[in-house]
Amino acid sequence: MSKLINPDSVYALVANNKGEILDHPTWKMLGASGLESRRPEARELIPLPEASRLFFLPDCPALGFDPESRKNRPINRLEGAGNTPLKGVAAFLPPAYSRFLLPAVTYNKKAYTLPLWAYAAVGWSDEVGYVTCACRIDKNRQWEAEFFDDVEVVAGVDEQLALYPDNRLINHLSRCAVDYHCFAAKNFFLGRWECPLPVSPTCNANCIGCLSFQEEEAVKTGESCPASHERIDFVPSVQELLEVALPHIEVAENPVLSFGQGCEGDPILQAGRICEFARAVRRVTTRGTLNVNTNASLPDKVTAMAQAGMDSIRVSLNSARERTYLPYYRPRNYTFAKVMESLERAKKGGLHLALNLLVMPGVTDSEDEVNALLQLVDKYKINQIQMRNLCIDPRQYFDLFQHKFSNPIGIINLIDRLRREFPKLKLGYFNRYLG
Ligand code: SF4
Repeated sequence: MSKLINPDSVYALVANNKGEILDHPTWKMLGASGLESRRPEARELIPLPEASRLFFLPDCPALGFDPESRKNRPINRLEGAGNTPLKGVAAFLPPAYSRFLLPAVTYNKKAYTLPLWAYAAVGWSDEVGYVTCACRIDKNRQWEAEFFDDVEVVAGVDEQLALYPDNRLINHLSRCAVDYHCFAAKNFFLGRWECPLPVSPTCNANCIGCLSFQEEEAVKTGESCPASHERIDFVPSVQELLEVALPHIEVAENPVLSFGQGCEGDPILQAGRICEFARAVRRVTTRGTLNVNTNASLPDKVTAMAQAGMDSIRVSLNSARERTYLPYYRPRNYTFAKVMESLERAKKGGLHLALNLLVMPGVTDSEDEVNALLQLVDKYKINQIQMRNLCIDPRQYFDLFQHKFSNPIGIINLIDRLRREFPKLKLGYFNRYLG
């Protein structure tokens, strides 16, 4: 167990317009649960993980704890920082880390929408360096940047494009690997671990934080920010899917084949193609985990995919409560009840059932949300929860809801409660190879 970091040794951070990050000489680091700032507890603090990024939040003044007045106050001026308005600083943590607190800033002066990143609290300790509020929730190291050598990736791309020049899916994945630096796509060209199989150009949801689609008008008005990925614009044939999947299953360590990627709509709308694919693979081999990441909006399709030979399903949810789900997912022609029915069908069909839980401090750990989540985990016998840090502008997210989120218990306590009440439940960040 590493030594606890004393919150009194961690100072608040600001940035100036020269791009310099400065720590306050006396005011302490704060974090935010929802839009409420608070002091972090020692057990919530860890050194900022390698491969984290730092962001400046223009027009969002940072808050710090002033030990003299014992108040949380905005940092408007700081000796040596210059006379221009000071900005808040946030961290973006690498995959595998579960964020406990948002950056403590005020958003009132900001007239733009922050891009789709998961902003986390960050401070400075002379002893440790940068410090954040998080824990490593998944021990799987296969998604760490050090394992992705782009020279090898490019060699793999050249090899695959030469082998299958007409395969549209391999062409698409080569762009994902080289332009978007998608680790799953790089895995395919490196012949190991989880390989992506995007199949769907469309979606029947309209998530506020969708990585592959943002409404043009909303982007124009600044209400939302541009999507970070282009959606696939064709449905791969079974042959194209097999040319990717079968060689991967043959050569890869822990092969997982996953439908439902950031560069597509929702694969459930192409369940027919997925079923054809699964039957074709299982006629050839029993090896590999066939997985689908989805909004699970169509229960009959979930049953069909289970019967066709898929092994696991990961269902995307920001909440176990309809009133919190609807404003974010903005479903088109499906209901929250259908998603719940899909959880039941998945279990009945023998699928490994994971939740892609979109976690937001101040929402996910609020009293009513926690109770609903515990009931859902118990009712549907969830196998794994992937505690995903929701990538969105916190102000934009909180403005979605009419209802309040009261009595947050802290993400760290939510994790403890899930582990205590469901010893068999796996908590993590990544899809599992099921052997
Ligand atoms: S379900 Fe996925 S693809 Fe569809 S809108 Fe939401 S994030 Fe985008």
